[in-house]
Amino acid sequence: MHANHIKNIVIVGGGTAGWIAAAALSKYLTQRVSIHLIESDSIATVGVGEATIPQIRRLNAILGLDEHQMLRETNGSIKLGIEFNNWGKIGDSYLHTFGDAGINLRNTLFHQYWLRSRVEGDKSSLWDYSLHHKAAYSNKFAPMEKVGNTSMTGLAYAFHFDASLYAKFLRQLAEASGVVRTEGKVVDVSLQSETGHIQSVQLENGQSIDGDLFIDCSGFRALLISGALDVDYENWSHWLPCNRAVAVGCEKSQTLLPYTKATAHDAGWQWRIPLQHRTGNGHVFCDEFTSEEKATETLLATLDGTPLSTPKSLKFTTGRRKKFWHKNCVSLGLASGFLEPLESTSIHLIQSNVSRLIELFPTMDFDESNINEYNRLIGKEYDLIRDFLILHYHQTQRDDSEFWRYCANMSVPESLKQKMNLFASNGLIYKEPDDLFRESSWVQVMLGQRISPRSYHAMANSLDSLQLKGFLQDVKKIITKATDALPSHQSYIDTYCKAD
Ligand SMILES: Cc1cc2nc3c(=O)[nH]c(=O)nc-3n(C[C@H](O)[C@H](O)[C@H](O)COP(=O)(O)OP(=O)(O)OC[C@H]3O[C@@H](n4cnc5c(N)ncnc54)[C@H](O)[C@@H]3O)c2cc1C
Repeated sequence: MHANHIKNIVIVGGGTAGWIAAAALSKYLTQRVSIHLIESDSIATVGVGEATIPQIRRLNAILGLDEHQMLRETNGSIKLGIEFNNWGKIGDSYLHTFGDAGINLRNTLFHQYWLRSRVEGDKSSLWDYSLHHKAAYSNKFAPMEKVGNTSMTGLAYAFHFDASLYAKFLRQLAEASGVVRTEGKVVDVSLQSETGHIQSVQLENGQSIDGDLFIDCSGFRALLISGALDVDYENWSHWLPCNRAVAVGCEKSQTLLPYTKATAHDAGWQWRIPLQHRTGNGHVFCDEFTSEEKATETLLATLDGTPLSTPKSLKFTTGRRKKFWHKNCVSLGLASGFLEPLESTSIHLIQSNVSRLIELFPTMDFDESNINEYNRLIGKEYDLIRDFLILHYHQTQRDDSEFWRYCANMSVPESLKQKMNLFASNGLIYKEPDDLFRESSWVQVMLGQRISPRSYHAMANSLDSLQLKGFLQDVKKIITKATDALPSHQSYIDTYCKAD
């Protein structure tokens, strides 16, 4: 090994971020590097973060995880999308599914054919052509890569799970790969005088732990990246104004739904996450427009079952670090930024940032080119997700509360304005290469939030009217047949992943 290589990695924090980092880095680097994780039992993890997006399956594959075992050990369930209620207008409901609607044809996205069919009198919604929508509302699921011998793609899915059980599950995995965990509270950080790099962290019991590379997974406290290295935070609350949440689990409902619910309220929104043993709930709100007392009242009045504890209160500021990697410290998870749980993107950001870190893994020189490239790529990823989230708030016809009037009238990033204008013109979405969200996600949320394209792309004229009708009818038939053949979500869970 070259003497210049990093030998000791120290991770501070044992929440989802800390243990994902530990599990992934130990999988790749354990032969050459020692990994030490410090966490304090006296400082609780944030304890929420129970809904994911399909990219988590890539992490599972990298870690060699058995999905059924993971679902069993975390009381998990399947997620095919998010149902948004009361967002565009009170009474509206749409499902942002993880899959494409219909079948793309001749290099043209399916929704363009659907837009044309609307002009020709079809009253169907885009979701009538969605396999995910049909499966989700029939409460059905089984893994399906492709639909029979058709060119329709199968079911893209993610998971709901109990956050604390998930961290435990990852911990077992990481410790089995050689990660050493130390229980203790970090009370001080020593910097090298010449470089300003972190030299060591000191624990409450007097122990000092040295490292070459430090990973800050200490949550909103951001002990290293902010506390020791003073990296600033870019505040996005003028675009994503929610800054508080109250969360509580309740008794599970009768039916185990394969999707999350996100229901808009007067000054925020409420999540419902179905797990095998309970339903996770939380009301995300902005304290400039309502009080915690009122938000808690709304939450408790709208639960599906009896609450299992008193609601937990959380505070946050949406935004991100100006640098995610500074000197010899990389921040991950809540220490690096927080966007909003609306599209369940935080756990994905942890995993994608760890992957980038592995790609750009430094030597002891900590060359600025690695650091700058990492910061550029992660910054771009955050910015693109930010725009997608703002779309949900800004593109609304709600004017029934101060909060919604603020959101509808706020100025939004130019990058988002351009996307909305393009879609309103002829339903086009131009996906940027680093955007986490694919065209089908943008299309569903744009339509769900009531943007109605004035026209459609000329390529959708490549079929004559009769062919178009036949094509659309075939899509519906394929979806019905495929869904009929699926087992119920509950029976899939009972057969393969039932928790003890
Ligand atoms: C309201 C809300 C809802 C969310 N919903 C979702 C969701 O549905 N999907 C999703 O992907 N994400 C969601 N998230 C985000 C998700 O919860 C986090 O990204 C994830 O849990 C990672 O948190 P973390 O590990 O960075 O921080 P934490 O869970 O806060 O962990 C911090 C760790 O640092 C340790 N620590 C702190 N200080 C010290 C110290 N001095 N010494 C030693 N150790 C210390 C603590 O002991 C703990 O182990 C949500 C977040 C919030 C606030």
